[in-house]
Amino acid sequence: MRLASGVFDDKEELFWVSGHKSTRVSQVANVLLPGSGPWTMNRVLEGKDPNMHQLRQWEQWAESTGFEDPKQPDRLLAPVSQPGKIICVGLNYRSHAAESQMDIPQFPILFNKFQNAVVGSGATINPPLGAMHMDYEAELVIVMGRQGFNIPEDGALDYVLGYCNGNDLSARDLQFRTSQWMLGKTSDGFGPMGPYLVTRDEVSNPDQLEIVCQRNGVEVQHSNTSDMIFSCSYLVSYISRFMTLMPGDVIFTGTPEGVVLGYPEGQRDWLHSGDQIVVSIEGLGALTTVIGDAKLERS
Ligand code: ZN
Repeated sequence: MRLASGVFDDKEELFWVSGHKSTRVSQVANVLLPGSGPWTMNRVLEGKDPNMHQLRQWEQWAESTGFEDPKQPDRLLAPVSQPGKIICVGLNYRSHAAESQMDIPQFPILFNKFQNAVVGSGATINPPLGAMHMDYEAELVIVMGRQGFNIPEDGALDYVLGYCNGNDLSARDLQFRTSQWMLGKTSDGFGPMGPYLVTRDEVSNPDQLEIVCQRNGVEVQHSNTSDMIFSCSYLVSYISRFMTLMPGDVIFTGTPEGVVLGYPEGQRDWLHSGDQIVVSIEGLGALTTVIGDAKLERS
C-alpha cells in the first residue's frame, strides 16, 4: 500500500495513493464501517481499527468496485505528521564519509530532529536568518510500525511499517557551530518526508534501493542504499537497544555522496531561495521541497 497524509478542508486525513488517484480511508470507511471516520495515520498507529490488514482489504474493495473519491488533498503532510521520535543517522554511506573526510564510524552516529521539522512533499522551507549554508541530504526513511525494545537484528524489519523518501535539510554553518549538530538540523521544515510511505510488504529489500537527488532538475546525488555502512535491520536493532521504538517513530538512515558540503571549499554552491530539491528512491515516488526566503517574521 501507498499511504499518505494530507489536509482536506483544514482536516488531516489518511489516504491511499494509486497512480494519480487518491482515495481517503474515511470515504471508504463511511461505506464499510459507517460512523467510524475520519481516519488519520496517528489513529491507525495507535492501534485503533482498521489495522493494516483491514486497510488492505478496504483498498482492494475500493479498487474492485471502482470507488472514486472526488476530493484531492489541498496539501500533503508527511506520511506520519507527528512522529514521536525522529532519529537520524550521520555518515552512514561509505562514499559520503569519504567526501566529508571523516573516518568510517564504528557505531552509528545518531542525532535527532523534532516535530517542528516535519513537512510533506511540496512544502516551501523558509530557513532562519543566519542559516547561510543550506544543504540537501537524500535519505531513506524507516517508519516503525510496532513497539520494540532490544529488537533482534534478525527479523528487525518485521517491526517496520514502511519506507519513504526523506530530505535531511541541514544548515552547515549552524551544524558545525558547536560539536553537537542539532542546531543545524531541526529548524522549522528541515525534515521533509513523503510523498507517501510504501508498506514493507512492497519493499523486498530496503538495503538495495537506488537513491537519487535532483537540484533544479540536475542530478546531484545518485547511489544505492547498498552503500550504507549500517543496514536498516542493524539500525532498528541497534537503536532499540537503548530506547523503546514506538509505532510512528522514524529513522533517517543517512545520505550518500553528492551533498554541497562534499565539494572543496570555494566550490560550494549552497542552496538559495527558489531552489527545488527532489528526492526519489526506487519505488517510493518523489519528494519535492522548495527553498524559500529567510524567515523574518515573528510568529
Ligand atoms: Zn543526514
